[in-house]
Amino acid sequence: MLKDKNIIVTGATRGIGKEIALTLAQNGANIAINYRNYNEEVEELINSIKEFGVEAIAVKCDVSKSDEVDNFISEVKNHFSSIDVLVNNAGITKDGLLLRMKDEDFNSVLDVNLKGTFNTTKSISPIMIKQKHGKIINISSVVGIVGNAGQCNYAASKAGVIGFSKSVARELASRNINVNIVAPGYIDTDMTKSLPDKVKDEILKSIPMKKMGNPKEVANLVLFLSSSLSDYITGQVINVDGGMVMA
Ligand code: NDP
Repeated sequence: MLKDKNIIVTGATRGIGKEIALTLAQNGANIAINYRNYNEEVEELINSIKEFGVEAIAVKCDVSKSDEVDNFISEVKNHFSSIDVLVNNAGITKDGLLLRMKDEDFNSVLDVNLKGTFNTTKSISPIMIKQKHGKIINISSVVGIVGNAGQCNYAASKAGVIGFSKSVARELASRNINVNIVAPGYIDTDMTKSLPDKVKDEILKSIPMKKMGNPKEVANLVLFLSSSLSDYITGQVINVDGGMVMA
């Protein structure tokens, strides 16, 4: 489905991003990822991607820093010559109730989740405009739609990603660039592993399908949105959440 496409996936060292990178590579795409700390896992992931017979590169980049993002995007452009798809997946949580939330925990979550998405999207847009095509897929969360006690910073960042993406979708639609939003529900990764069992049980009760999702189920939607099958879809929020949130 993605033969010869060049795709950037941020936050692919673990969890959902890793599965997205592998799924897109399995479908023929060359992959560029970022890392913050180079380690064995990054090397193993690059090797696993290459086993699908595609190219893979990794560049050091913290998405919250615009100079590092500009360098990342320009290194990928120099290597692949075009960039067909950008998947903004890097994200963090720093949970806490409003009354106890420190300024730094509010700011850092906004800096990575929302400003990071702005940084990469702004940096890549001139490239996609010039090549007259592109797809941008931003990973938000159902929490950005319905909110969640203890996550006002995270919910604000993910709601921000939705508003940001819809605005950019309107700006770039005439340039043949699609911008869509994936909103996962409760997915089994490092991010959710640390939740207390009591909280997990409560969340499970609120999911009509009564189970957590897995990273592959998110990656499959990103695969569709990366491919030409989704050419007439832009500015949409699509949930992958076992029915947890229904509009
Ligand atoms: P993980 O915590 O497993 O992985 C997060 C990834 O983001 C890691 O690769 C991490 O890199 C990277 N990252 C974090 N901060 C930065 C930064 N400043 N610059 C560059 N990369 C960074 O998270 P998930 O896989 O669970 O989540 C992936 C995305 O999906 C996130 O945007 C998350 O908000 C969203 N999501 C997840 C849900 C879930 O239930 N798991 C539900 C809804 C949305 P490193 O290894 O260096 O830390």
